Amino acid sequence: MVEYTKDVADRVLRILQASGQVEEDKMTEIMVRAESRSARALGLLMEGLDDIHDPGVAPVPLIEEELVVNILSRAYALRRKNLAPGDVAPEALASLPNEMIEREHILPFAREGRFLRVATVDPTKATLANQIKALSNQNVEFFLIKPSEFNACMGHDEVKAALGKRQEKEKAAAPARTQAQPRKRSSYDIDDPSVVIKFVDDILHQSIAADASDIHVEPYRETARIRFRVNGVLEAQEQFSEFLFKNYLPVVTRFKILADCDISEKRLPQDGAITFKDAEGNDVDTRFNVLPGKNGERICIRLLKGDPSLSIDKIGFKEGDLQKLIDAITAPQGMVLVTGPTGSGKTTTLYGALQYINDPGTNIMTAEDPVEYYLEGLGQTQANEKIGLSFSSILRAFLRQDPEVILVGEIRDQETVEIAVKAALTGHLLLSTLHTNDAIATISRLLNMGVPSFMISAALSLVVAQRLARKNCASCLAPDEKATPSALEYIGFTSEEIQGFQAQKGQGCSACDGTGYKGRQGIYEVLRVTPEVEEAILKQAQAPEILEAARTDNFMTMQEVGRDYIRNGVLSLEEFTRVLVVN
Ligand SMILES: [Zn+2]
Repeated sequence: MVEYTKDVADRVLRILQASGQVEEDKMTEIMVRAESRSARALGLLMEGLDDIHDPGVAPVPLIEEELVVNILSRAYALRRKNLAPGDVAPEALASLPNEMIEREHILPFAREGRFLRVATVDPTKATLANQIKALSNQNVEFFLIKPSEFNACMGHDEVKAALGKRQEKEKAAAPARTQAQPRKRSSYDIDDPSVVIKFVDDILHQSIAADASDIHVEPYRETARIRFRVNGVLEAQEQFSEFLFKNYLPVVTRFKILADCDISEKRLPQDGAITFKDAEGNDVDTRFNVLPGKNGERICIRLLKGDPSLSIDKIGFKEGDLQKLIDAITAPQGMVLVTGPTGSGKTTTLYGALQYINDPGTNIMTAEDPVEYYLEGLGQTQANEKIGLSFSSILRAFLRQDPEVILVGEIRDQETVEIAVKAALTGHLLLSTLHTNDAIATISRLLNMGVPSFMISAALSLVVAQRLARKNCASCLAPDEKATPSALEYIGFTSEEIQGFQAQKGQGCSACDGTGYKGRQGIYEVLRVTPEVEEAILKQAQAPEILEAARTDNFMTMQEVGRDYIRNGVLSLEEFTRVLVVN
């Protein structure tokens, strides 16, 4: 039986996957059984799977030969033909050495004029054209036929006689199935491939139950593990490790199938998306990335937050600060910057802002790396430095598209900041993020990036600096022994403030899985560029002076906001120290 080569099978599988011709679950099962070898997987698809629960039942093909031949015909631009043994002309067979016909699985079947017509199952055989031409002294025309047609022709008595290959009768006449029979399963022998499907489903569902923001699938030399990022902290999920290590390849393949990634590509990083249902039947959208590594491919899945949490009035802004933000994002122009470390919820804030102003009458364009949320009605572009699609180049292109609002994922170089400032000064609302410790430090960062102070004061309208902290679990809140007066003074409480005050901390209970934390609290400082602040910027004042100017607008630092949260029991000293103490 002729088998497709890896490259050809890869191509067919990709097309089948993309067109959804084979159910995802089936595709996973096939890849597991074929140990991720595409040629075998394609063979299995065309043969069908024997039912492991009922071996007596003959397998049903999952895809028709006809479809595969049509796909290949299109993909390789070769004509296809239906070929019966009676169509094979002995003089055509005689044009090529028998040995070549056998070895290459090609079938010369007709001579017409100066042309020799050659049938093949494998489109890459077309590369033999010059060789055949030299041997037969004829021009060559290739046709694609089905594997079953090829086998029938090669097994036909007259063809065999013409080839003079009687001694190999059994081999040539062997029915398709015997050779393509699935080989013994892999060393990790999964009795039931649906186990992998269930395993992957379990990971996805448990990530939701744990309120994780990311799922990491990581291979090591001696082990493998799943980690969930919960409340900004990575937590190993040991319950998955053993099965994962033993079945790493099938599990990765299953994830890649769900994410619409190319299962045969193992050397390049790929991005994709998985949508699945949570326990309540709601769609959960995710962003998927697979990255080749020394011990295998690593996967990172970002669970995208649904709309409800995006609303800016629900993410923890204090009332006055929320109003400042709304004023800035509803202004016709200006620059609004959000700063904070990775995982501090900057994207949530920016998208909350976009959602607030998103309406059909507003042209909003975003340049992101990666695209983390999808919002209806936005023009979203994924930046890709590798192909020259940098934030600055996208931004330049945007300005020709007449947007009212532009979101740039991050300002990290001078080129981007220059265009961003220009956009903010010429009738656009520009939203972006920047890497700085706090709101006031953002101004000196912009100065250091080469933006003149008069441009900053004119363009900048608002800076939000933020952190995301774990909230104390309300069910097991109790006095925190570690929050001694000196520890509290260290984080900025005055001695008057801590008189008779006891900080609280979750002790761990069933409601919080013993962690003492439940839910998250965004902590924000919101710097509005008021005339006072503008003046301080213009004269390039130091941070304390800018702070003083901001105080006239009720500016509170994140630390002050955090201490408030300690006072009312929302935040523990430990968590304050983790997210709000610099150094
Ligand atoms: Zn608790």
